[in-house]
Amino acid sequence: MTATVQDYIRTIPDFPHEGIMFRDVTTLFGHPRGFRMAVDQLLSPYAGQQIDLVVGLEARGFILGGAVAHQLSAGFVPVRKKGKLPAATLSEDYTLEYGSATVEIHDDAIAAGQSVLIVDDLLATGGTAEAGIKLVERLGGNIIGCAFVVDLPDLGGRARLEQMGMPVHALCSYA
Ligand code: 5GP
Repeated sequence: MTATVQDYIRTIPDFPHEGIMFRDVTTLFGHPRGFRMAVDQLLSPYAGQQIDLVVGLEARGFILGGAVAHQLSAGFVPVRKKGKLPAATLSEDYTLEYGSATVEIHDDAIAAGQSVLIVDDLLATGGTAEAGIKLVERLGGNIIGCAFVVDLPDLGGRARLEQMGMPVHALCSYA
């Protein structure tokens, strides 16, 4: 039987906290066929659409987003954790399970009207993706969709993004 993307993902129980089933995509990234399959499947719904920029969310979104951008002949823009980007930035705060975090984008990274695909490895509560979406929208980017390798639907991220009118594409899910 042909392997699927999910077959290459490893689950680590109790990481980083007891009770969390961490979906480890390093085993997917580390497999030559698995990585190509993931990148090809991430971009397949957007074939024939104009995409100017891929926005990758730190950190695993950089690995996937860079490869997707290359395949689409698009540019790549990082959304980084606070304090990492050297030039002037916009920032968005968002809530985590415990506390909050801030992500940033260079304020000249996207020109108004450019079409953008947002990429990350995993969608859980959707807080990280929503912060990325807000940054892109504040710069006037036109978001075509958000693409993830893994969806954890029980954590509500897909519903949250779809409520914002954002098309979500995910390659596999764990209920
Ligand atoms: P959210 O903001 O949707 O709650 O969490 C998604 C973010 O947390 C993503 O950037 C993702 O990389 C990270 N994340 C949360 N849980 C996991 C997991 O089980 N596996 C991986 N690979 N990333 C996770």
